[in-house]
Amino acid sequence: MNKALSEIYRELGITEVHLKACLLSLHSEPSLSDLKVAAIDFEGKPFVLEVNAEAAFQKMKAAALADQITLMPYSGFRSIMYQKSLIAHHLKNGRVIDEILTTIAIPGYSEHHTGHAIDFHEIGKNSLEEDFEKTESFEWLTKNAGRFHFKMSYPRDNQQGIVYEPWHWFFS
Ligand SMILES: [Zn+2]
Repeated sequence: MNKALSEIYRELGITEVHLKACLLSLHSEPSLSDLKVAAIDFEGKPFVLEVNAEAAFQKMKAAALADQITLMPYSGFRSIMYQKSLIAHHLKNGRVIDEILTTIAIPGYSEHHTGHAIDFHEIGKNSLEEDFEKTESFEWLTKNAGRFHFKMSYPRDNQQGIVYEPWHWFFS
């Protein structure tokens, strides 16, 4: 493990036990020059992806639009340091690390670090919910995302032991 990561884990109280229990893969971040602003999100913040994922996303978005579907990205690239700050925020609010790690990936292990993962949401809803599977966007993605090399990473009963995430799609 690299030094920066072990330092983060020490600060957050992430132990060998947590790392052993984690069934996800370690991911690295693209270089800054390989990141591109793909859109401005609902909060007015830039939605960033790795350049190849960005190009595929734009094609997919246009194809969806031609079918009267507006794909709404909620989050894309997230740095390892951002992941760390998310967990630190929850710790500060009194949650315990074991519980936090059931919904937030250990820094270094989120697919969002690669800039290849997109979380979609429904218009008018800011949170990521299982109900996303009932939207037209989800139906469209299920039928068409594969053509653009996007795949749902965490279907029901996935082998990684992650909760069902119908909103999370990965480019590869
Ligand atoms: Zn996600």
